[in-house]
Amino acid sequence: MSLGWRLRREGLEVLIIDKGEPGREASHAAGGMIAHCDPHLPDVLRPLAFAGAAMYPEFVRELQEESGESADLRDRGALAFLHEDERPGCERARAIESDGIQPLEPALTRPPLEQGMRAWWLPECSVDPRGLCLALLKAAKRRGVDFVTGSAVLEVEISAGRAVAVKTAHSSYSTGVVVSCAGAWASQIQPFGLPTHPVKGQMVCIVPAPGSWEDLLVQHVIRTPEVYIIPRSDRRILLGATVEDGGFDKRTDADTVEKLYQAAAAVVPKLGEMRIHDAWAGLRPGSPDKLPILGETALPGYFAATGHYRDGIMLAPITAEIMTRVITGEPAEFDLLPFSPLRFSQ
Ligand SMILES: Cc1cc2nc3c(=O)[nH]c(=O)nc-3n(C[C@H](O)[C@H](O)[C@H](O)COP(=O)(O)OP(=O)(O)OC[C@H]3O[C@@H](n4cnc5c(N)ncnc54)[C@H](O)[C@@H]3O)c2cc1C
Repeated sequence: MSLGWRLRREGLEVLIIDKGEPGREASHAAGGMIAHCDPHLPDVLRPLAFAGAAMYPEFVRELQEESGESADLRDRGALAFLHEDERPGCERARAIESDGIQPLEPALTRPPLEQGMRAWWLPECSVDPRGLCLALLKAAKRRGVDFVTGSAVLEVEISAGRAVAVKTAHSSYSTGVVVSCAGAWASQIQPFGLPTHPVKGQMVCIVPAPGSWEDLLVQHVIRTPEVYIIPRSDRRILLGATVEDGGFDKRTDADTVEKLYQAAAAVVPKLGEMRIHDAWAGLRPGSPDKLPILGETALPGYFAATGHYRDGIMLAPITAEIMTRVITGEPAEFDLLPFSPLRFSQ
């Protein structure tokens, strides 16, 4: 949707075809951390991650203005507990001494500092991906993006060696350019799928106990090796997330939900007084080398913008920007070779 919105602003006619409802799969399940400082990000992805994170405030401002929906951009930063040999991958990150943690985040009374862990404050923000998707949907519709929902694309049709249309069960839609943004399902589209696979993540949402009028319990995103804790401005707190190779199964299991809840309460005991509101799972679009797949495929006119794995919310604005440039023939201004769809056919 971010790409559709961006392309439409460039004056292109855009039709988004979704097998379900747009913004209801991985993007609906995500935590919404814009985690460009994460030491585990692949180095080759850092330029895109930094650019995406830098674009976020303006991206959200424009979308909110166009749609009237809030994406709940929060910019208090993240408190990350990293192993001693790990360093945040961004400037402005600050190591925090143990007596500096509670002044920043009073409810964090049991910081996990044992076994060589260190606390860092990271200049990261977070959004509510559900609010963001709603804002994108409305903004895209207002700008004249068309939608066909509840209809899976089965095949990209080819004529004279170019992609010329996409076929669903009931129709065929002619076009000059096809972009596969089919996430974990991208491999299912004929004649050749893009090699994504589902990587399941379970998340838990907790809310204050009935009758509690306490303010939002934590202000920062908190990341420990066991759990991440993401506050929303409406006092909900999200706990995430597992990383599981479980096929297309989106069920949650009670043990995992309990484990995430206990891991959060172990560092912020007051979270144990909140109640579990709901839990869900989503399917991240994994790729064979864990990098996004961006650019034109071997079939002229058929492009890929998928495989964003754990970072697709963070990378949404930069993906939209880069793919718009690629599609309209402008220089992308990033080295896109590591992300080329062609890397899998060599
Ligand atoms: C639990 C969890 C937590 C996460 N946390 C974060 C986070 O904190 N920060 C972050 O940056 N990222 C996070 N992510 C990753 C992020 O959610 C994904 O990388 C991103 O949402 C992928 O977006 P997408 O549009 O490519 O895929 P999706 O949001 O899955 O959308 C794919 C769309 O394609 C449609 N589709 C599929 N096949 C077809 C077809 N054949 N025809 C038509 N339509 C089709 C689907 O219906 C769907 O609407 C998280 C993911 C999960 C699951």
